[in-house]
Amino acid sequence: MIPVFAFDNSYARLPERFFARQPPDPVAAPGLIAVNSALARALGLDPQALATPEGVAMLAGNHLPEGADPIAQAYAGHQFGGFVPQLGDGRAVLLGEIVAPDCRRVDLQLKGAGQTPFSRRGDGRAWIGPVIREYLVSEAMAALGVPTTRALAAVTTGETVWREAALPGAVLARTAASHIRVGTFQFFAVRGDTDAIETLARHVIARHYPEAGGALDLFDAVVAAQARLVAHWMALGFIHGVMNTDNMAISGETIDYGPCAFIDGYHPDTVFSSIDSHGRYAYSNQPRVAIWNLAQLASCLVPMIEAELGQPTEAVIGIATDHLNRFSEIYEAEWLARMAAKIGIADPKPEDRALIETLLTRMAGQRADFTRVFRGLAEGTAAAEFTEPEAYEGWAADWRARIAGDPAAEARMRAANPAIIPRNHRVEEAIAAAVAGDLAPFHALHAALASPFDRPADDPYRAAPRPGEEVRRTFCGT
Ligand code: AMP
Ligand code: MG
Repeated sequence: MIPVFAFDNSYARLPERFFARQPPDPVAAPGLIAVNSALARALGLDPQALATPEGVAMLAGNHLPEGADPIAQAYAGHQFGGFVPQLGDGRAVLLGEIVAPDCRRVDLQLKGAGQTPFSRRGDGRAWIGPVIREYLVSEAMAALGVPTTRALAAVTTGETVWREAALPGAVLARTAASHIRVGTFQFFAVRGDTDAIETLARHVIARHYPEAGGALDLFDAVVAAQARLVAHWMALGFIHGVMNTDNMAISGETIDYGPCAFIDGYHPDTVFSSIDSHGRYAYSNQPRVAIWNLAQLASCLVPMIEAELGQPTEAVIGIATDHLNRFSEIYEAEWLARMAAKIGIADPKPEDRALIETLLTRMAGQRADFTRVFRGLAEGTAAAEFTEPEAYEGWAADWRARIAGDPAAEARMRAANPAIIPRNHRVEEAIAAAVAGDLAPFHALHAALASPFDRPADDPYRAAPRPGEEVRRTFCGT
C-alpha cells in the first residue's frame, strides 16, 4: 500500500532565493516508532498505508512521495539576542504542503532528514530523544488545546548519531500550518530584499491571515496570535525554553520543541534549558521575549508599512510601536481569562487578578506543584500540595467566597486545569526506554496525554516527581 498525499506546494513556487532544493538523505534501515492515526485521518492520509514498509520509507526520507517538492527553507534569527543572518533548515526538509479534506493546508516536514546547504557544522540528523520529546510534548499541547505543530509520525533510521555518546537516529514527520518564522522575514530584511519581504508577506496573508489588508494588519494579527499563545503557555506552566526569533512561527503555533518543559514545583523564575544560563527564556520572561521578538518582525515590515501608509520612516516606527503595544493589552486580558477560569471564575473583574496572583505567590513560596494545585482546586486536594497548608487555606477562604453560588465553577476548573501534563521525568523515562529499544513507556504516556483533562483519580501520570526523580535540566533538540 503506497501512501498518497494531496500535495500542493505553494512555498516551493516562491522565488528560488527563499529556499534550497534539497531531497531528504536516505537512511540505512527505517523502522516505525509511531504513526499518529487520528492526525493522519484528519489530513486525508491513510494511517495504515503510512505504517507499511513503503510508508515508513517515505517517512524516513528514503523514498519521495508523489507530488513532493522537497526544500530546505532559508531563515535568519536572533539566538539569545545575538543576530545570525543565516540559519535555515539545517536538519529538516519540507516535503510539501498537504491540502486536507477540510481544505486546511499543512506543511509536512521531515526533521532529522540529513544535511542541507544550511547545516553549517551540523550532521543534519536527530537522535531518538528529541524526536520522542517533540512527539510527546507537541501532541500533549494539541490535546490541551494549544496551537502547535503536530507529530504525524516518527521513525528510527537504523543509524547511529554521535552526540556526547552514540545514540540511535530518528526522524520526526511534523506538520505545521507553515514553518514561516519571524526569522524568515529577518533573512530578507538583513539583505535589504524588500521585494522578498513583500512576496513573503503576501504569501503569509493569503495563507494565515486572509482578512489582513496589508503589512500593518498582518503585524496586528501576528501580535494578537502570539499574545494569545503565550498566555496559554503561561496558564499551563509551559516553558518553551528557546524563544529565539527563528523559533517563533508567524502562524501563532508553538514550534521547535527543544529544551521545553512544564513546571513541576512552581516558581516564576524557572528555567530548564541547559544553555539558558541567564534565564532569558525563563517562565515569567516569556511575554516580554515575545514582545522583543515581535519588535524584530515590526522592523522587517517597516518599509512595506511605509509604502502602505505613505508616511516617513520615523512616523511609521511610532505607529508600529503603538501596534506592538497592543500585545500587552491582549496578553493581559487573555491571561486573566485563562487564570480566572483555572480558579473557577467566568467573567473576571480586575480585582480577580490580585486573587490569582496571591495564589501564585503562595505556590512559589513553597514550590507547590503547578498542575496539581490547580487541578486540586476542583478535586479538593489543593491544600495537600503545600508543605504549609495554612498559606493555602488563608487564600482559599477568599477564593471560596468569590466563587460561592456559581454552580458551573467546578466544571469550569476541570476544563481549564489538566490532570496530567508531559512531566519532564516521564518524558525522560520514555526517552531512556526508547534508547534501550523499549517503546512501551512512550506509547503509554502518549495515550494518556491524549485526554489530559479526563483521568482517573489513581492515574500514575498525575504524580509529581518524587525527590530524586525531578528533572531540572533539559537539552536542545540537536
Ligand atoms: P533550533 O534548535 O531549532 O533553535 O536550531 C537552530 C539552528 O541550528 C537551525 O538552523 C537548525 O537547522 C540548526 N541545527 C540544529 N541541529 C542541527 C543538526 N544536527 N544539523 C544541522 N543543523 C542543525
Ligand atoms: Mg529552530
